[in-house]
Amino acid sequence: MTPPASHAAHHPALAAEDPELAALIDAEERLQADTLRLIPSENYVSSAVLEASGTVLQNKYSEGYPGRRYYEGQQHIDPVERLAVARAKAVFGAEHANVQPYSGSPANLAVYLAFAEPGDTVMGMALPMGGHLTHGWGVSATGKWFRGVQYGVRRDTGLVDLDEVRDLALRERPKLIFCGGTALPRTIDFEAFAGIAREAGAVLVADIAHIAGLVAGGAHPSPVPHADVISTTTHKTLRGPRGAMLLSREEHAKAIDKAVFPGLQGGPHNQTTAAIAVALHEASRDSFRDYAHAIVANARALADALLARGFDLVSGGTDNHLILMDLTSKDVPGKIAAKALDRAGIVVNHNTVPFDPRKPFDPSGIRIGTPSLTSRGLGTEHMEAVADWIDRGVAAGRGGDEEALAKIRAEVADLMAAHPAPGLPTI
Ligand SMILES: *Cc1c(COP(=O)(O)O)cnc(C)c1O
Repeated sequence: MTPPASHAAHHPALAAEDPELAALIDAEERLQADTLRLIPSENYVSSAVLEASGTVLQNKYSEGYPGRRYYEGQQHIDPVERLAVARAKAVFGAEHANVQPYSGSPANLAVYLAFAEPGDTVMGMALPMGGHLTHGWGVSATGKWFRGVQYGVRRDTGLVDLDEVRDLALRERPKLIFCGGTALPRTIDFEAFAGIAREAGAVLVADIAHIAGLVAGGAHPSPVPHADVISTTTHKTLRGPRGAMLLSREEHAKAIDKAVFPGLQGGPHNQTTAAIAVALHEASRDSFRDYAHAIVANARALADALLARGFDLVSGGTDNHLILMDLTSKDVPGKIAAKALDRAGIVVNHNTVPFDPRKPFDPSGIRIGTPSLTSRGLGTEHMEAVADWIDRGVAAGRGGDEEALAKIRAEVADLMAAHPAPGLPTI
């Protein structure tokens, strides 16, 4: 069977060897090109990042660190990792960087291994309040092997109550305090968290997985002067490959490096390290500062346009890239809305909202964000249209109006065609 021309053009060897798989990747490329992707943890990496992550670096084993490896043949791998580390330190102004964690969850596990013992008390934001599984939530290894105590947001403001955090920390004396999360639409007060951690004798871990690109681009305050350890993924707003980094002051360098390898992982994924280096190179540019600020400007404009259409937003709006919509007043569950929007070519995820009366697998909200659409060059002038599509899509989802959803899908595809995404083939 001759593969379709487009597969052969994008991935000639793959299309020849495995047309079935090539067709699936081709379809995914089409989907990413045609749809309005609003999942706040996703993005479009550049062609340069994609190329670096698909290289022969993937053929190498490199357990250890540059200059201290357990394998020979590291002549070119060592400088790749050194470059990634140097760029990470420069972009974030950190004294130490470890670029080897396979992803955000293992990076956080390495922090536990470095600073706590099983059974120790750790503190983080509760998952249904916007925290992450790995901040000590019960179903996660971190909640099973450690004693997780959890803070939340205030019911009236939707904001973290720092007095509550302080009281809890002083009462429970956790070894680790995590700040940051996956559904937080507001700025994190790293300085206040650092003060609380100091008072409680805890290690402060700032998990900036979602906002690393905003921090790098100066669109969110940096945790670097305040937190003992900074954990981040590299694939969300930072717009790099799927991976993670741990940043810290020099005093914690040894503990962190030992925890990542040999404590938790084997060989680093060198192709990912290379792509992280490329992403950090891109993040050091003035154009990335513009990108980071445009993400926030777009999110603010989108939040305003949604508020004007009667949507309830947790905390009343956003300071960053993310908007958490409570659909209770629209009388449609988050999952039904999310699935309807998906049929309309708008990709979001259903999400719990703080104090959600519904179950986690069928919650009241949806979570949206602007990193991907900003990567395509959409600006504040487009956010009225985006809000309008969401409004019409949610209403059509409630009413089961498939015709309306198909009409939105066509309108979305038109705007997407006019704003090609980075890294995607243009045919
Ligand atoms: C995404 C995320 C993680 C986990 O990253 P994975 O790469 O999915 O393991 C950890 N912490 C926070 C706050 C996140 O948003």
